[in-house]
Amino acid sequence: MLPFDYVRAADVDEAVNLLAADPSASYLAGGTTQLDLMKDGVLGPERLVDITRLPLRGITRSDGALHVGALTTMEELAADSAVERALPIVRQALLLGASTQLRNMATVGGNLLQRARCRYFRDPTVPECNKRDPGSGCAAVEHSARMHAVLGVSEKCIAVHASDLAVALVALDATVHLQGIPGRRSVPLTQFYRESGASPDVENVLVHGELITGVTIPMPPAAAASHYLKVRDRASYEFALASAGVVLVTREGTVEQARVALGGVASKPWRCLEAEQILTGSPATEETFREAASASVQGAWTVPGTAFKVELAQRTLVRALRTVSGVTP
Ligand code: FAD
Ligand code: SF4
Repeated sequence: MLPFDYVRAADVDEAVNLLAADPSASYLAGGTTQLDLMKDGVLGPERLVDITRLPLRGITRSDGALHVGALTTMEELAADSAVERALPIVRQALLLGASTQLRNMATVGGNLLQRARCRYFRDPTVPECNKRDPGSGCAAVEHSARMHAVLGVSEKCIAVHASDLAVALVALDATVHLQGIPGRRSVPLTQFYRESGASPDVENVLVHGELITGVTIPMPPAAAASHYLKVRDRASYEFALASAGVVLVTREGTVEQARVALGGVASKPWRCLEAEQILTGSPATEETFREAASASVQGAWTVPGTAFKVELAQRTLVRALRTVSGVTP
């Protein structure tokens, strides 16, 4: 690991000022991604600004929403009583991720900003990686890419956005709160991430120095049912090959409201508005679910190793919709 300075920020303003003043500095939260990448030689910040003592940890409720501090751990959010009662999609997305030890360290803010799990990105001996070294090429497109993305990708980068939580939060229309030098702003999570088009190294709308302070999750209607389904090679401690987060309100066999997002198959948590349009107002049937699933993968771009994901994503979504609606095939 390269040498670096370590500073612990006393308050949010100090953290933001320290980072904004130093283009090579990074925030340190739970460290479960940041330190791995530094040890592997992928990242080499000259300064780490430790934010773990900032007063950004905890969960409150008001105005029909849950307000989650950025330093709340994944395990704390999963154990929250409102999440247990009304947000199974969030609880399942959290508990299907990483391991208990990791979830006790890993923060919500860090989870949303975790970097790609692409093995070429994480191996600095591989020279071609546009995300790590813009303009160098993409080893995944050239070589083996089974774990990679098919939606929101280009020949410049096919890395998956790995967060399970972000998929659930995108389906719930969550908003992320930021603080930077000019002040505070809030961004819908659906507009927070960028697709890996022209600049795979730019993954979201954050400007250097901006700190995630929290996330607001609107509570779904009382009649809504929600579910997060994760399909992977191993039953635990594994990232998604495909996942689906769904929130559905059905009445007398008809879908009244639908929110759908896919994970494991896209360069960002993938909200499926066309699938939602097909579902809304339609009978909750296998046929409707298949039609919605087909719409959810429109525009997929594959390389030989990833072609199976187009079918897998559809099957995952259909299964999640069946589970949440109680419809059997
Ligand atoms: P850090 O590692 O401290 O930071 C991550 C990044 O976010 C850094 O760039 C840091 O500068 C930045 N950052 C952190 N907090 C803020 C903030 N408040 N504002 C601005 N920038 C910030 N995740 C899943 O979703 N599903 C999985 O199945 C899964 N499996 C995993 C398995 C393993 C073995 C490991 C190591 C990780 C796994 N993860 C998984 C990822 C894990 O959830 C993330 O590593 C973790 O959530 C990151 O949080 P952290 O607090 O440790 O962030
Ligand atoms: Fe790098 Fe993206 Fe290609 Fe992976 S898929 S090697 S992260 S450019």
